[in-house]
Amino acid sequence: MHEFKYIGKNLYCEKIRVEELAKRFGTPLYVYSYQTLIGHFIKLRNAFRLIDPLICYSVKANSNLAILKALVDHGAGLDIVSGGELFRAIAAGCPAKKIVYASVGKTDKEIEGAISERILLFNVESLSELENINRIAARRKCVVNVAIRINPDVEPKTHKYITTGKITNKFGIDFKSALQIFRVRNALENVKISGLHIHIGSQITESEPYVSAITKMAVFIDKLRTKGITPEYLNIGGGLGIVYDNESAQTAERFAAKVLPILKKTKLKVIMEPGRFIVGNAGILVTKVLYIKTTPKKKFVIVDAGMNDLIRPALYDAYHKIVPLRISTKAQENVDVVGPICESGDFFAKERKLTKVKEGDYLAIMSAGAYGFSMSSNYNSRLKLEEVMVVKDQEFVIRKRDSHEDLIRSEAIPPFLI
Ligand code: PLP
Repeated sequence: MHEFKYIGKNLYCEKIRVEELAKRFGTPLYVYSYQTLIGHFIKLRNAFRLIDPLICYSVKANSNLAILKALVDHGAGLDIVSGGELFRAIAAGCPAKKIVYASVGKTDKEIEGAISERILLFNVESLSELENINRIAARRKCVVNVAIRINPDVEPKTHKYITTGKITNKFGIDFKSALQIFRVRNALENVKISGLHIHIGSQITESEPYVSAITKMAVFIDKLRTKGITPEYLNIGGGLGIVYDNESAQTAERFAAKVLPILKKTKLKVIMEPGRFIVGNAGILVTKVLYIKTTPKKKFVIVDAGMNDLIRPALYDAYHKIVPLRISTKAQENVDVVGPICESGDFFAKERKLTKVKEGDYLAIMSAGAYGFSMSSNYNSRLKLEEVMVVKDQEFVIRKRDSHEDLIRSEAIPPFLI
């Protein structure tokens, strides 16, 4: 499943002892396994080889240039949601014709930027946005390819903050309104509706919500065909769940077995936008135990990483396995693992049975590759972390740790205060 394994009493990333990296680069530190990253991409590609989909890795999950370049080099396209992500995609060398762009709130500037780059598709999320893209394209005397993002109204059985395909969510367009858009499409001369898109949520561990959503799409596609409309692409989004705790997340093969028969029937070119599935288990957050604090009711393990470095536990009550980099005892105890930030939400585990640790020990917070660094911030004026990629027995710094100067680089004191 991933290349973080114990050899004897030490945790290794591929062929490198993680504690060596912690000592060399300092903590907190993100460590990624290249083989795991690429391995997941290839697993998905192989599982769907019968239809050869365009797999557009979702940049938001982890937008480090090296991660993007590694995937692009293996044939991935990219799914972006902002002008900043477009900039990264181009910088990573992604062919524009493999870039798809979703977001409910694309600005004129972002739309213009993506038109200039000639990306494959805008995933359009409202009639107003479609009209705006049409207006901008008309001004630039071009025709822009778009896909309509449908909100299929399915329950993806995941955390409410990462549910996106229910009709009460802000994403996509309901079937009835989408049909209406297809009816009036000829009035919009500068957009070509060449695809349909869904993305129903994230960390989805069962195939049933996908089967339900894609089946609804297949019915809609048939309905369009009866009206003489045949789109070229069907984008089924991302959302495939991974194992954080003891979920029985579906493998790429099992997922493909469930959805391939429906996808094949649509006869459309399939696009996918996985993020977490590819990078989630390819990264860990390494942290050092600063203090052990015992109170009348609790034992706290205070570490040097904080919620600004990995916000998922604070934001979604998300579970991350926590293991020592070196096993020095079999004893376990119930603890809260917390960071140094001035918020009670700054925790990585609560009432967790953990291998007993002492001050100065190192811990790995597992499965932190997706929505870890990319959601990190400088809150409490903490420095954003160093990121290291391991390839077999070699390590590469793929992002330097922020400096104090980085913290204030863009700020200015107005003259009247000087
Ligand atoms: N596509 C879209 C439109 C998204 O909003 C997201 C995540 O929010 C993804 C793809 C990637 O989701 P995941 O990382 O769960 O695969």
